[in-house]
Amino acid sequence: MRILIAEDDTVLANGLSRGLRASGAVVDCVSSGTEADAALRTNSEFDLLILDLGLPKMNGLEVLRLLRARGQTLPVLILTAADGVEEKVKGLDLGADDYMAKPFAFNELEARVRALTRRSAGVASTVVRHGPLEFDLTGRVASIDGRMVDLSARELALLEVLLHRSGRLVSKEQMVARLCEWGDEVSINAIEVYIHRLRKKIEKGPIRIATVRGLGYCLEKIPASAPAAPSAAPPH
Ligand code: CA
Repeated sequence: MRILIAEDDTVLANGLSRGLRASGAVVDCVSSGTEADAALRTNSEFDLLILDLGLPKMNGLEVLRLLRARGQTLPVLILTAADGVEEKVKGLDLGADDYMAKPFAFNELEARVRALTRRSAGVASTVVRHGPLEFDLTGRVASIDGRMVDLSARELALLEVLLHRSGRLVSKEQMVARLCEWGDEVSINAIEVYIHRLRKKIEKGPIRIATVRGLGYCLEKIPASAPAAPSAAPPH
């Protein structure tokens, strides 16, 4: 999950990004409205925007208005001052999905973030299933046939992207964009290494990550009525 935080209070922004990273998200921070606007214009890989309304250079409501005017539908959680009832209403009217008044408890924000991203991905539960594979988005654990699979934070993040787009191509560039934070070096080669490791750990029974040569990867759909697949994976 990739989150953009637009917040000019650096203490709050740092605390939020630390907490969200600890729960497995990839987080980018900007501290002004114009930076937020530029980041959203140039990057369509964000799954969620956490938007402070009181931002310098361009206020949060304007960032939100421009975002929705461009037709971008990513969920937006606005952060408002405790007494900002009018701002809250304006924000929701402009297309925000939820709001939190400062100060707030981090675990409440985390739960709202999970609910918003789940809703936008069309996933009703916190557990995503793919054949015998289960991914618990809340606990950040994956299991196959009820057995926990030991995956690194990046492998989990890659698996999450593949699961959310199961049956569809995910390009290596998209993976790099989803996994890297700005200033973080993740190369295309590194993606190949992570996919190689992920395959070794999760390719069992009908679970397959297909290589779409020169383009990227695709978690193959498992037909609902698939006959039991052989346990030995063919080489590919
Ligand atoms: Ca502010």
